[in-house]
Amino acid sequence: MKYIVVGSSHGGYESVRGILKEDPKAEIQWYEMGDFISFLSCGMQLYLEGVVKDVNNVSYATPEGAKKAGVHVFEKSEINHVDPDKHTVHVLDHNNGSERDEHYDKLFLSVGAVPNHLPVKGNDLKNVYAMRGRDWAIRLKAKTVDPDVKNVVVVGSGYIGLEAAEVFAKAGKHVTMIDLNKRVLGNYLDSEFTDVLSKVIEDNHVTLAMGAPAGEYVDNGKGYVKGVTANGKEYPADLVVETAGVKPATSFLKGAVDLDGHGLIKVNKYMETSAKDIYAAGDSIEVPFAPTGKTSYIALASNARREGRTAALNAFGHHVPMTPVSGSSALSIFGYKFASTGIKEGTASKFGLKTESVVVTDTKRPKFVPDKDGNAKVWFKLTFDPKDGRVLGAQIMSKEDVTANINTISLAIQAGLKVNDLAYADFFFQPGFDRPWNIMNVAAQKAVDKLN
Ligand code: FAD
Repeated sequence: MKYIVVGSSHGGYESVRGILKEDPKAEIQWYEMGDFISFLSCGMQLYLEGVVKDVNNVSYATPEGAKKAGVHVFEKSEINHVDPDKHTVHVLDHNNGSERDEHYDKLFLSVGAVPNHLPVKGNDLKNVYAMRGRDWAIRLKAKTVDPDVKNVVVVGSGYIGLEAAEVFAKAGKHVTMIDLNKRVLGNYLDSEFTDVLSKVIEDNHVTLAMGAPAGEYVDNGKGYVKGVTANGKEYPADLVVETAGVKPATSFLKGAVDLDGHGLIKVNKYMETSAKDIYAAGDSIEVPFAPTGKTSYIALASNARREGRTAALNAFGHHVPMTPVSGSSALSIFGYKFASTGIKEGTASKFGLKTESVVVTDTKRPKFVPDKDGNAKVWFKLTFDPKDGRVLGAQIMSKEDVTANINTISLAIQAGLKVNDLAYADFFFQPGFDRPWNIMNVAAQKAVDKLN
């Protein structure tokens, strides 16, 4: 059996691991069109802030390690055509300009997504950057220490935009964030959280320009960007970082596998595409979404890894459906650590859901523990179905790391638990860590009261 894996980020990496786990002697060809396998954009902030010194360490796999495991790695090698009838892929080898066809028995597509390049006037100016992949990481790093870059505009205030804003603010640049949304992180957190975070962000010298799209990237007369307009104002910019969503890198697959209207590869719950023996994983597919029982587009490495492994298991005949996810994610910004999962009040209507929520604020540990010893305030919001109390989502935030609670809620959503199940659930107590009633208990008890 010959396995071909296209794409070397999370989904591709996990597909390779999954194949090797099933058959350590499998013949695997692993293709990556970039010049480096397995760069992890998730680790980019750590590199840009100097925590990880070498950009090449922001990865799981090396060609040497893969070769040791018997995997044939092809860097700078792009797959630009798939023929599902002949079971072949067409390879463009950018190392030497040659081309060839390769036969596969099973094909794994993990081609991911590329950042949206906004169709605004001036988007072809110099110093308009994106934040994804190793090449952008290297270029962004250079800008963090470039004395000519004093003002940075970040377009998009989701997770990646906030990472960019924090990196450049910490590097001493003045940062402006522009977003169509009225609230930063509007797709991830409700206003109880974003009201606090917006103030923290502004206190750290980031200007928030919310509620209007970026209008134009303004030319300095020499082909470089000098500003971004939004809402009738021009914000100074020696550098623009676009972090306004992604689009799937699937145009070369038209006619080979079924794509939806957004270009996402259609898969079933076994990660099988419409074409026999072709599987897909990662940011180019939708994922089963536990709160709704439908599928949703949630571009996360955690999903890509699970999908890659599921694809590999099914290629070996195990018939394992992808475990539904809830879009659990976490981030830390200027000392605040937050996480969320499932449905938020702010996004419920997008899913056609009516929800009810309770908010609890408390200290992490018993009140007698001094603040300075890590007893920070915690914000927690639990969202549930008002009809039956089914847990639909949660958000948490604190200066202490309390984010792991969100994994518990994610599991509760996956298991279809109700607020009644959480109200008196067994969670440990030790004053060094927690309170006798965990904040999830407290919120669920409040939710039960609300239901009755
Ligand atoms: P991608 O990462 O999109 O990679 C696809 C790969 O395939 C690329 O290397 C590309 O060059 C290659 N490729 C594409 N087409 C071809 C072709 N035709 N031939 C050959 N090769 C091809 N997620 C989290 O869960 N947690 C985080 O903390 C987190 N932080 C993030 C921070 C940043 C700054 C960014 C940008 C993303 C972050 N994500 C995070 C999201 C996560 O990185 C993505 O969900 C994940 O990388 C998706 O993996 P993927 O395998 O689908 O593909």
